[in-house]
Amino acid sequence: MQNRQNTQSKVLIVGLGVSGLWTARCLAGQGANVTVSEKRSESELDAGICSELRSLGVTLEAGGHKRETFLKAEMIILSPGVPHDMDLIQASLKRGVSVTGELELAGRLIDIPIIAVTGTNGKSTVTAFLGAMLENAGFKVFVGGNIGIPLMAYAASQEKADYAVVEVSSFQLDTVETFCPFISIVLNISPDHLDRYADYEDYIRSKLRVFKNQGPAGYVILNDDDETLSRVNPGPGVSVFRYGLRKEKGRHAFMDGETVISCVNGIESELFSIPSFFLPGRHNRENLLAAVLCGMIVGIEPSVIQKTAGEFKGLPNRLEFVKELNGVAFYNDSKATNVDASVRSVMSFERPVILIAGGRHKGADYAPLVGAAKPRVKQAVFLGESRDLLAGAFEGVLPYSMAGDMEQAVATAFSMAKSGDVVLLAPACSSFDMFLDYSHRGRVFRTCVEELVRG
Ligand code: ADP
Repeated sequence: MQNRQNTQSKVLIVGLGVSGLWTARCLAGQGANVTVSEKRSESELDAGICSELRSLGVTLEAGGHKRETFLKAEMIILSPGVPHDMDLIQASLKRGVSVTGELELAGRLIDIPIIAVTGTNGKSTVTAFLGAMLENAGFKVFVGGNIGIPLMAYAASQEKADYAVVEVSSFQLDTVETFCPFISIVLNISPDHLDRYADYEDYIRSKLRVFKNQGPAGYVILNDDDETLSRVNPGPGVSVFRYGLRKEKGRHAFMDGETVISCVNGIESELFSIPSFFLPGRHNRENLLAAVLCGMIVGIEPSVIQKTAGEFKGLPNRLEFVKELNGVAFYNDSKATNVDASVRSVMSFERPVILIAGGRHKGADYAPLVGAAKPRVKQAVFLGESRDLLAGAFEGVLPYSMAGDMEQAVATAFSMAKSGDVVLLAPACSSFDMFLDYSHRGRVFRTCVEELVRG
């Protein structure tokens, strides 16, 4: 570890999620004076975690945030779910208190090269893929960030990995100041979280903060097929690598049919052909190209990247095949929590699709989904808080039905389908209106499908 916290400093961690917990563990382990402030009451928290923190000497304030605690804090560490514009945070900022996040702090504490993956969609998939690819190449890797274990967990451990691959969300990037990855990857940017950002430009700015501190020692990998990213020019000196599905000027990786091609210093090389078992959808080919460039920078043999692509099964709830009944295939893409992911999901099928969509509206326009659905979707079933908005967007374009719950949505979709069709859950919305999170929604979908199959 490079730095240790000043043992005297009064650190306030706001929010006891997984990143808050690991930050508390790490800083308390270094002897800092740590308080955790949590909105939920103690009865809603895990009792084991509460007693662990107390045994580490952490003061736990549950059941709401106390003004006095914020006034005394010398450093505030915000959890990604806590909005910056909270009054108490704004007041602390005015007093000159340093307000930062777990990612920033972990970045200061560790001294191995970081590969940071961000973008609106595909972060978890690419992070997991890179972890597998680096391991297949013989490296010791920490894989974490938003995908599961926070980077702080690595900082708190005694382990020594060769690389840390971290999935980084825009909320985490909002609090970075010095965070400086060795390689940063921006997969795509499309409207999302507009309920949390002032506007789309603000959200884009947040994503691009990932490479703001990179210089000549760093690499930035950008998706050149993405309208916004194709126009982005990271700071001077940093090496920029671009990828896209087709050959175009300035691209360092692209496809020719099923073959992955690299182009470095004007020299084209055929790297490998995509294994037949690779994940479906054009978007997963884009994801693979990002990984290919990362592999080239790190010095991984194309055969190792190809082997990883052949073995990688994808993650649950991302275009995941569930079951087939009477020739109708059910796919669970519950993680399609925004419009672009749902668009990509729908576009991944050659077969006619019955689309199940809807959930908590996040402020985005559904027109791109209507456009993608028109040539492919036979009928749609809408559920959740946004179902009227979706119905309004699809009105006069495609037939649709409304469902009160997932069971009804699955049964209705199946009644509309015939052999050869796909029933696809790709909600384009978050899950919090009816479910605990996207994985709960995916589980409920899976159970409904399994019950249907059982008859
Ligand atoms: P994230 O971690 O960014 O949410 P995931 O890998 O969990 O990304 O995938 C989220 C959703 O986005 C899933 O519906 C998945 O099928 C879809 N997806 C994956 N990669 C891409 C991509 N490159 N472009 C658009 N959608 C994608």
